[in-house]
Amino acid sequence: MRLLIQGGRVLDPAHGVDGRLDVLIENGKIARTGENLSAEGAEILDAAGLAAAPGLVDLHVHLREPGFEAKETVATGCAAAARGGVTTLVAMPNTRPATDCPELVKLVREKAAATGVNVLPAGAVTVGQKGERLTDFEALREAGVPALTDDGVPIQNLALLRQAMREAASLGLPLLDHCEDRDMVQNYAVNEGAVSRRLGLSGRPAVAEELQIMRDVMLAEDTGAHVHICHISTSKGVDIVRRAKARGIRVTCETCPQYFTLTEEEVLRQGAMARVNPPLRTQADVDGIRAGLADGTIDAIVTDHAPHTAQEKARPLPDAPSGMVGLETSLALALTGLYHSGVLSLNRVLALMTSSPAALLGLGKGTLALGADADLVLFDPNEAWTIDRERFASKGRNTPFHGRSVRGKVKYTISRGNIIYQEG
Ligand SMILES: [Zn+2]
Repeated sequence: MRLLIQGGRVLDPAHGVDGRLDVLIENGKIARTGENLSAEGAEILDAAGLAAAPGLVDLHVHLREPGFEAKETVATGCAAAARGGVTTLVAMPNTRPATDCPELVKLVREKAAATGVNVLPAGAVTVGQKGERLTDFEALREAGVPALTDDGVPIQNLALLRQAMREAASLGLPLLDHCEDRDMVQNYAVNEGAVSRRLGLSGRPAVAEELQIMRDVMLAEDTGAHVHICHISTSKGVDIVRRAKARGIRVTCETCPQYFTLTEEEVLRQGAMARVNPPLRTQADVDGIRAGLADGTIDAIVTDHAPHTAQEKARPLPDAPSGMVGLETSLALALTGLYHSGVLSLNRVLALMTSSPAALLGLGKGTLALGADADLVLFDPNEAWTIDRERFASKGRNTPFHGRSVRGKVKYTISRGNIIYQEG
């Protein structure tokens, strides 16, 4: 089977490629890139006016299955991924039961197999994510997990965490780290600051995140583990990672569109729809996140796609669950907030969503090199459109970006040479 993608602007950030080229796909692999390739025997996809980049790699997605199928299933989550241009995703293990053993890893992978999206379940660090007993890291690695995490439930027992880092380091598995001190944030709904005071609510202080980043950076240095800080949201947090990297500590980090786009003020306008952990912060933090993206301190843009039902999000702010969906809006929000606003080049935005996250976990994805899996997203980088949650493929409609004008629209998503999404 041959597919020729003709006349697009091909961007392969891993190799500094940016030019008008054809891409020939054979048997699910990139067979050739070049000018005016022969179309003989190939199906032709006209990409004139479109950008063609490696399929997006999202390191932080909650697919909710098993256990929370009312929020999302593997099938609906993967449909959302395809619609957003995401061809590889790491699924968080906070399902019910938690993905803490090879059987559950296998279950999620099997459910994902038919979707065309490459789903890599992360393994839980502790049994049931209870923070008491380590899982069998070796067995999880054998089952194919790319990383370990208790995302959503920060590990408070430092002796246990240190042991986890030692074992993870010896097996070469990165630890994905949700940084918020649980005692300091409880189940509070918003950032501690002007908005929490105005609402008369207890807040989640920035220092609760920063202290844990500092703590885990020190443990990374102590154990040699690769610690990857999830969804970094504060300017000082970025600065801690910046200094740690300069010291040669094996720490990397990611952020999400909400943290370089929105501030805590959004909670006043949208209530529970803008509730997320860590919470939306201040403008100074948004600026700090953008600076961290610009200078390379932040390694990846991910979604933290966290679907919930409409009924759950309709609860009053203090009782509603935290999280927002993101798979179908991440590329447009990154292009709008970073590329069209002049913070980053197009190639750099794409690097943060493809080659860089793939390299962090050694996934062998995020490139259009010859012989690579033919995973691509074709998009119009300039097209203006309005985000409409009613059109989402995800079951989750919980986005604070509904009705927002953005630029950059996904037209085709291709996974291993198969078109898994086509607009309209
Ligand atoms: Zn998290």
